[in-house]
Amino acid sequence: MKSLSNQTSSIAASMTVAIDTLAKKLKAAGQDIISLGAGEPDFQTPTEIRKAAIDAIELGKTKYVAPIGLEEVRKAVTYKLKKDNQLSYEPNQIILTSGAKQAVFNSLAAIVNPGDEIIIPAPYWVTYPELVKWFNGVPVFIETSPETAFKITPEQLQAAITSKTKAIILNNPCNPSGAVYSKEELQPLTEIIVANDLYCISDEIYEHFCYEKEFVSLASFPQMYERTILINGFSKSHCMTGWRIGYNALPESMAPLISKIQSQAIHHPSTPAQYGALAAIQSGNDFVYKMRDTFKQRRCLLQQKISESLGNEIPLPEGAFYLFVPVNSLYGKKTPDGKIISDSVTLCSYLLESVGLAIVPGAAFGMDSCVRFSYAAAEETLLEAAKRFNLGIQTLR
Ligand code: PMP
Ligand code: GLU
Repeated sequence: MKSLSNQTSSIAASMTVAIDTLAKKLKAAGQDIISLGAGEPDFQTPTEIRKAAIDAIELGKTKYVAPIGLEEVRKAVTYKLKKDNQLSYEPNQIILTSGAKQAVFNSLAAIVNPGDEIIIPAPYWVTYPELVKWFNGVPVFIETSPETAFKITPEQLQAAITSKTKAIILNNPCNPSGAVYSKEELQPLTEIIVANDLYCISDEIYEHFCYEKEFVSLASFPQMYERTILINGFSKSHCMTGWRIGYNALPESMAPLISKIQSQAIHHPSTPAQYGALAAIQSGNDFVYKMRDTFKQRRCLLQQKISESLGNEIPLPEGAFYLFVPVNSLYGKKTPDGKIISDSVTLCSYLLESVGLAIVPGAAFGMDSCVRFSYAAAEETLLEAAKRFNLGIQTLR
């Protein structure tokens, strides 16, 4: 047989997706698994959204539409961006996508030429570097740490820029660290982005999950609108993970390029899912604010329990719904059957095998010293997860 694509073979599969798939498979096979692996809210999609999609199907609104999506849904997205983010877009600047993940794909497809450097603060969401590599770009990481609240500084950004730098991907609030940049922290970063004529891919999918600070969109800063490719979606805000619906909001000049990509790659996201997204916007933000308040309490609960287990206080993440926990003090210890916990992957495998707890190794996010817990889960699940984590790590010698 002839060889498969070298380019595609060279990228890694998504570890978050792999862990979620494995945990769901083990559970379906009857194993006692607690999964805080995937970033998936545990609530059901709100009734009015489900009903809107069912109505669309029953009314036969199930045909092909334009590659960038239904006009009325894109109009609704512009309304949302105005209301929540004080941003003015026309419907032709909105591209509906099959989840925010595809919006990331589109953004990179639109700007990356071979050899272009794309700056990515670490820890990062698993998908960014792999897609950059897939488009023959070069991911350039800026390291952060728990001591700097997992945020990059203007000095770090300036130092990472070369003549080959094309763009930066900023995910605010951040998956996995939960870091939230304030307006004052973003301002000097945007000045550097503008001064160096970079594009900015701004992944704002966790915008509503800010527990202390106000969320500010990067596109709202001076001279950023024309260089920002905004990414957002409904998976997290309206518990629509399986619907696969998100969007890009773009400078006008870029929309035709992405429309072309969509027309060849997917045509458009599922038509009933687009009607679901319309209902999500029409239903307002009460649902997501209520969920945010619930997550805020869960965040404290999990942080307290995991801090107790490790014997040191983990800082509270300011946003998203993940607790990103330094666990390198456990590295070098032995499991009861003599295996050495050498890194985040061996620790997570050990926890899954020994106590049935699925969490994600920090290595997947470019920070091997940590592991990621999602707290988008019921309180009893979080308590049971914390109990299992404690049991697992207390057994290490
Ligand atoms: N961006 C980030 C930072 C994410 O964590 C995720 C995970 N779902 C996505 C984008 C993609 O979301 P979607 O389900 O809409 O594809
Ligand atoms: N974004 C979620 C996560 O980080 C879902 C899985 C994925 O798409 O990566 O867990």
